[in-house]
Amino acid sequence: MEKLSPEQIKELNEIARLPREEQQARLQEFLSTLSEEQIEFLKSQQEQSCPFCSIIFGGVTSNKIYEDDKIMAVLDINPANVGHFITFPKEHIKNSFEMKPESLMYLISVSNLLAKKMQIVVKSDGFNILISNGLIAGQRSEHFIVHCIPRFKEDEINFIWKPKMMDESIINNIIKEFSNFKAYNERKVVGEERKSDEVYYEEDRIP
Ligand SMILES: [Zn+2]
Repeated sequence: MEKLSPEQIKELNEIARLPREEQQARLQEFLSTLSEEQIEFLKSQQEQSCPFCSIIFGGVTSNKIYEDDKIMAVLDINPANVGHFITFPKEHIKNSFEMKPESLMYLISVSNLLAKKMQIVVKSDGFNILISNGLIAGQRSEHFIVHCIPRFKEDEINFIWKPKMMDESIINNIIKEFSNFKAYNERKVVGEERKSDEVYYEEDRIP
């Protein structure tokens, strides 16, 4: 399905900020420039009525701390601690497993920089940058988000477990399953196109 370009998302954001009277006319004008697939994509985003997509498209107010053409960061509305923020891709993606490697790396690396800044702003003693995939893991939204939580002494947030015993045969089996695992294949890029400091990725090999 054809997604919107960063320029189109930007324009949509601008339209969302317009007064209601102007909004309708501009929106109609904007929609007339989209392909059928893009309109379908927009509809599917609205149909899902995802609160995070609503933040991106301006329908839900938020305390935004960062935005670029790919991702956004806002203060969490139910913070675990002061300075708790979330970062998420602008595209409606379900979880980290569904993300392209380079998009995920970008999201994590910007989250990391924002966390580093937040640590100074709120004077925290530590930081959790947390990914949760699936309900059982604590993921409550259908849109992939990264929780960035400043930690303070005695803040009573816990992620502590009792160690479980793992059977030797299960350990061996896991080791065997991973013995030929390659996270990435280096794509062969010839001649001038190749720069020594760039990393090239092929599709990941996980079924
Ligand atoms: Zn969404």
